[in-house]
Amino acid sequence: MAEQFDVVVIGSGPAGYHAAIRAAQLGLKTACIDAAIGKDGKPALGGTCLRVGCIPSKALLDSSRQFWNLQHLFGDHGITTKDAKIDVGTMIGRKDKIVKQFTGGIALLFKANKITPYYGFGQLQPGNIVKVKQHDGTEVELKGINVIIAAGSDSIELPFAKFDNEYIVDNVGALDFTSVPKRLAVIGAGVIGLELGSVWKRLGAEVTILEALPDFLPAADAEVSKTAAKEFKKQGLDIRLGAKVSKTEVKKKEVHVTYSDAEGEKTLVVDRLLVAVGRKAASKGLLAEGTGVKLNERGQVEVDEHCHTGVDGVWAVGDCVRGPMLAHKGFEEGIAVAELIAGLPGHVNLDTVPWVIYTEPEIAWVGKTEQQLKAESIPYKTGSFPFAALGRAVAMGEPVGFVKVIAHEETDRILGMHLVGVGVSELVHEGVLAMEFSGSADDLARICHAHPTLSEAVHDAAMSVAKRSIHKVN
Ligand SMILES: Cc1cc2nc3c(=O)[nH]c(=O)nc-3n(C[C@H](O)[C@H](O)[C@H](O)COP(=O)(O)OP(=O)(O)OC[C@H]3O[C@@H](n4cnc5c(N)ncnc54)[C@H](O)[C@@H]3O)c2cc1C
Repeated sequence: MAEQFDVVVIGSGPAGYHAAIRAAQLGLKTACIDAAIGKDGKPALGGTCLRVGCIPSKALLDSSRQFWNLQHLFGDHGITTKDAKIDVGTMIGRKDKIVKQFTGGIALLFKANKITPYYGFGQLQPGNIVKVKQHDGTEVELKGINVIIAAGSDSIELPFAKFDNEYIVDNVGALDFTSVPKRLAVIGAGVIGLELGSVWKRLGAEVTILEALPDFLPAADAEVSKTAAKEFKKQGLDIRLGAKVSKTEVKKKEVHVTYSDAEGEKTLVVDRLLVAVGRKAASKGLLAEGTGVKLNERGQVEVDEHCHTGVDGVWAVGDCVRGPMLAHKGFEEGIAVAELIAGLPGHVNLDTVPWVIYTEPEIAWVGKTEQQLKAESIPYKTGSFPFAALGRAVAMGEPVGFVKVIAHEETDRILGMHLVGVGVSELVHEGVLAMEFSGSADDLARICHAHPTLSEAVHDAAMSVAKRSIHKVN
């Protein structure tokens, strides 16, 4: 006999744990299943984000940034240190401690909210039953009035660069190198490739990023991509565009990477290869025959704008459905679905999901780029402000980058905000907030911002839309 729940959630990543906790807060009897095993060999909640994604990558980005700044920035402040060294074991240990704190934190939150965790692989059966193959070898069946699929995503593996977890790795391996590789190649100049490439570059690796596309970061605003590319080059990140990898071979503890670009076929020999070509929905084995839930050609669970699968009581959220593969998008979908189940309104506006790349400089945006607006023939105007003219940024020794506000030519409504530079992962939320409230550039320009702060760049950029920025010549 299946155990009965109001809500059964498959997956405890950002989307799943938000759904479970919100459902429990709303008085619904909730279970959450997760198959993951942590580095310590024990079941771990929190999904990709907490175990092998957002949080550990930011921990290493922060450690490596300290090391880089010590060598490259501290001198300007008159601070000198001799013989800076990095102990990779301590750095990885710090990262692991942070991961444990947060994955353990989800277990505590589940307990406090009376959510029943199940540790094992869940498969949806017809009739909203989830069969769980638990790690101890036993099987249980859970019946949910509602089932929320939050199975997340896995790294895409290339047929000619299979992960061996030593020489050829995905994010999991690259977050756990035991020493700094002398030469690291990365396939893919996307978010993960740039962030993890930056970590090991700052620690002393020679990093070459091979990107098949001819343009650098085409999803970002073209001026932002250009500024970031220039800075990455200065840092010594060797980003090769239009470089299509066709073969890899591990020989005598080295990886031989064959790729072709406009000049023909080339081989790069490195000590480690990180494959970061994107992620795919983790839908393998998730659905038994006859559930009625559909997968699209990319293996994503098909849902409508309210994350409903079309099958009574079955919902899906996060990386395993359409939309940006970002933790905070999953957070919002998880909450929205729990609220819809409880009879409350719930909706996620995918148009105002912010994007952030946590490199140096940071890159962030919300809404449309100029390229998109041109393609859609939407009339617009822009205003921007450089950090080089901002007192706080210059005082911090961080003059690189700018904030750009894009507003509708006629209505002045903000259509996008694009940022590159120091602290922009935080500043972008002014754009998100303004767009959520259908704000105009003039609204933002008339809001008092504290001085001296980085957020003044947003203020001046918004003023600059109407050519009335005070701190630059308009
Ligand atoms: C290196 C890296 C850095 C990243 N950095 C950021 C960042 O800075 N900001 C950001 O927004 N996003 C970042 N992401 C993306 C982010 O991690 C994902 O968007 C987010 O984790 C998706 O959440 P989710 O809940 O949909 O899925 P996941 O986090 O993937 O969680 C899904 C969970 O479901 C479990 N599961 C899957 N199938 C089953 C099953 N059948 N039965 C039981 N359990 C199952 C899995 O074990 C997993 O624990 C990063 C990703 C990587 C790899």
